[in-house]
Amino acid sequence: MTQSNGTDAVVTQAEAMKQASSHQAPDKKLIFEMSREGRVAYSLPECDVPEEQLDSLIPSSYLRSEPAQLPEVYEVDVIRHYTELSRRNFGIDNGFYPLGSCTMKYNPKINEDTARFAGFAKIHPYQPESSIQGALEMMYILQNDLAALTGMDQVTLQPAAGAHGEWTGLMMIRAYHEARGETRTKVIVPDSSHGTNPASATAAGLDTVTIKSNEDGLVDLDALRAAVGPDTAALMLTNPSTLGLFEEHILEIADIVHEAGGLLYYDGANSNAIMGIARPGDMGFDVVHLNLHKTMSTPHGGGGPGAGPVGVKEKLVPYLPKPIVIKKSDGTFAFDYHRPDSIGRVKAFYGNFGILVRAYTYIRTYGPEGLKTVSECAVLNANYMMHRLAPYFELPFERVCKHEFVISGSPLKQYGVRTLDVAKRLLDFGFHPPTIYFPLNVEECMMIEPTETESKETLDAFIDTLIQIAQEAKEQPDLLLNAPYHTQVRRLNETQAARKPVLNCACNS
Ligand SMILES: *Cc1c(COP(=O)(O)O)cnc(C)c1O
Repeated sequence: MTQSNGTDAVVTQAEAMKQASSHQAPDKKLIFEMSREGRVAYSLPECDVPEEQLDSLIPSSYLRSEPAQLPEVYEVDVIRHYTELSRRNFGIDNGFYPLGSCTMKYNPKINEDTARFAGFAKIHPYQPESSIQGALEMMYILQNDLAALTGMDQVTLQPAAGAHGEWTGLMMIRAYHEARGETRTKVIVPDSSHGTNPASATAAGLDTVTIKSNEDGLVDLDALRAAVGPDTAALMLTNPSTLGLFEEHILEIADIVHEAGGLLYYDGANSNAIMGIARPGDMGFDVVHLNLHKTMSTPHGGGGPGAGPVGVKEKLVPYLPKPIVIKKSDGTFAFDYHRPDSIGRVKAFYGNFGILVRAYTYIRTYGPEGLKTVSECAVLNANYMMHRLAPYFELPFERVCKHEFVISGSPLKQYGVRTLDVAKRLLDFGFHPPTIYFPLNVEECMMIEPTETESKETLDAFIDTLIQIAQEAKEQPDLLLNAPYHTQVRRLNETQAARKPVLNCACNS
């Protein structure tokens, strides 16, 4: 590693870290390079079907022409190899993860215990209802809890993610308008909206109309009035928005959309700021999805698994995906399939069941007062952080924020440093960077969500590090431009990594 003078300290620190970990003898070889012919990591009983018969038992179209090229290694080597790889990973259990709009909060370990209860984990979706009453009751209570939390009348637990919930909600909105004989094809989204909103609208066969935010970062009411009309199917809104700001005129917004005959969709992916304090249903929303894997603390990242339940007001209940769980007059629980106007099934079986158990556990552990405290602390932490960081960066909207906030790294541009460089430098200090360059309407944006589960010491350590990095930008910008230094790999070409991913092992070809 060659560095300019300004980075001597960094190199020394990097060397020290390398030495400190060298007694663990990190194994940098690919598992294919460790392969030695004849080594196995398993022991199986001898095959009691004669070899010749095997070939005739398996249709030839299913047989490989060449043997699979698999590494041949001992069991301990496999275990060490993958354990070592897992240590190179970053997760919420090894560090602060302030990813805005993604709520990377601590995941209580009791959730993992309950999700593994045999009565939940070892049941089969086709078991008779009489033998899974406990699981059905859990789903029934969760449906009702989420309805109460959001101010909705009925909830489906089926959707497997936030985006899936959005699509499900929009399909219900479509069905509603169609049943009334109306052709409404336009979905209005603000320019600060999450990218999945317009994508879901397109996937649901609807067209997106984007409206600009005003200078306060809120929905521009005049722009909204100009956008609504007889073709408006819905307005999709995140409130607090992805800028962390609460739409103060939400009741007026709801009136404008309803008067035009449209419905209101609430993107509740991150409901950290409002639980027990405000409800989308009371704000005038007709449909809401929640990301249980964000708000209700299921570990996520790397694409899943998640759960995106959708709650609806009475007028949309007939269109909910089927089945939903009901309680019968004799007190037992059952799946209700008799829903003639349902948009159908949106997920195999009953959703990502394990995530539902975790969310149920989370809600029961906190209780109504606890959930409110969660939201209060999430908002307090975000405001504390925003307040301390504001003098060193640029605050695009000087208002009280909710569970997350946006600051801009544009003051560092005069030193040739961009937000991307700040994010890379954070890695050297063991912090996962915040969300960057989103939302799109703030230049050099950093979107920070501290969550409610971090101590003041952790918040301060992160703030102090960002302040130090802002100082470094001024005094030794090259340091930032070449960061990170202490990570397993240095700066990657992110465009190339996304456009031309190399997913196979070169040594195997
Ligand atoms: C994460 C997120 C989504 C999408 O949720 P997925 O589970 O990733 O599909 C939608 N809207 C907002 C505001 C989000 O933060």
